[in-house]
Amino acid sequence: MIDGIPLPARDGPFEAGFWRALERGELAHQNCADCGVWHFPPRWRCHCGQPLAYRAVSGNARLWSWTVIHPPVLPAFAPFAPYPVAIAELAEAPGLRMVGPLVQTAGDPINHVDPSRLTIGMPLQACIVELAEGTPWPAWKI
Ligand SMILES: [Zn+2]
Repeated sequence: MIDGIPLPARDGPFEAGFWRALERGELAHQNCADCGVWHFPPRWRCHCGQPLAYRAVSGNARLWSWTVIHPPVLPAFAPFAPYPVAIAELAEAPGLRMVGPLVQTAGDPINHVDPSRLTIGMPLQACIVELAEGTPWPAWKI
């Protein structure tokens, strides 16, 4: 857990479904029932003009890219730097990519994955961590 990190709004009309799913222990994204396209970040409507609904996803993903974060960082992250961060592409939604911390287990600090173990395309699994007090956050398990 990291104290003092700035948190995003979680109750807006489009993003609330994402955060409520995380609170239930699920990863969910907006999906268009008409054309099937998945969307992230949350948005008002699909490209095709239809409304979107949240649907749970498996959390299966692949490592699309990654980087190692070095200082300067926000003060709350300074004790963890350097640390790796993933761009994960979801199995159900090619092209839908999420940025998040890499962990070996859900309780790990964000700096416990050795970047030398990372290879582009390797499988990842979403897990939910409590990055800040009372705030579930998606992370990527190697
Ligand atoms: Zn659509």
